[in-house]
Amino acid sequence: MLADSAYSKEREIALQATIVASEFCEKVRQDQASQAFAKPDQSPVTVADYGAQALICHTLKTRFPQDAVVGEEDPLVLSSPGMQSCLSQVTNYLQAWVEGVSSQQILDWVGQGQDHTGQRFWTVDPIDGTKGYVRGDQYAIALALIEDGLVQVGVVACPALPVQFGHQPQTQSPGVVFMAVRGQGAEMLSLASGKRSPLAVNPISTPQGFQLIESVERDHGTPEWQYRVIQSLGWQLPPLRMDSLAKYGAIARGEADLYLRLPTGNSLQRRENIWDHAAGVIVLEEAGGKVTDQRGKPLNFACGTKLQENEGIVASNGHIHQAVLEAIGDSLQKST
Ligand code: AMP
Ligand code: MG
Repeated sequence: MLADSAYSKEREIALQATIVASEFCEKVRQDQASQAFAKPDQSPVTVADYGAQALICHTLKTRFPQDAVVGEEDPLVLSSPGMQSCLSQVTNYLQAWVEGVSSQQILDWVGQGQDHTGQRFWTVDPIDGTKGYVRGDQYAIALALIEDGLVQVGVVACPALPVQFGHQPQTQSPGVVFMAVRGQGAEMLSLASGKRSPLAVNPISTPQGFQLIESVERDHGTPEWQYRVIQSLGWQLPPLRMDSLAKYGAIARGEADLYLRLPTGNSLQRRENIWDHAAGVIVLEEAGGKVTDQRGKPLNFACGTKLQENEGIVASNGHIHQAVLEAIGDSLQKST
């Protein structure tokens, strides 16, 4: 178990908040077959995204009133005329968690995640991988504490992820939480048994045998370009595919070795959202892995809600990182 030291209060409150949010998201998914609404940018959002953000932000603001909170979801979207049915469903559901809670309170709680980033702040992705959630696949609830541009605490709850990918005994229901505090290691909690176990990356260092993990949604990345880049290293195994920040957990526990999000061509200007990565980055780093951008720069979480200074993401078991960066460098050079 992680030592009871710096950030232990933050870690435990974040853990409890994501566990409650996980139960909420799973309940909504079981009942609803996960109906999705469209946000103004046409990306999908569900009753569970808003309910989970409301629960997490309310907990953080109650327990850490001085801290800023930056969440993905916007209460102005939830209160818009086209979302009335969504808001009333969020309210009905949340009343089973918080007796008598009103729609206005829920909008206020979702809005507690609208602070600006600063010296110390939390970032929340109430459901990362909403498309996976709606499809009945993987998704994650992610919460990270950032100080001076560095992630200090990260919690990634994956309510549908088995304790061991592909080896889940029929008797144990899935659900794990990955968590880490800087300098204190990373661990995984089984939601079914409550058992905590330390996380460690796969020690593999030969590029020929490494396991790539990638998004299920092919248009979230540039898979063909990524395959070409790592084929030069002798990469052979077919990729694992998984939605959301759960990919960081899969590398942290040694089931995969490399996750690439390499922008190229038209996507080169795209910058990643901080909440899509922060919690996963510290889990992987504390399990012995490494995360940089595609040029090898460390991720800088002090540039607002986007990773403005970073081009793409390279997350690995650490041992193959340098070789992968060199292969990317060569490919970038050839393509210009
Ligand atoms: P994943 O399941 O790893 O693809 O991650 C889901 C995340 O992909 C969501 O949080 C979105 O913010 C992000 N996303 C949505 N559209 C795109 C896109 N066109 N390119 C890259 N990422 C995207
Ligand atoms: Mg997300």
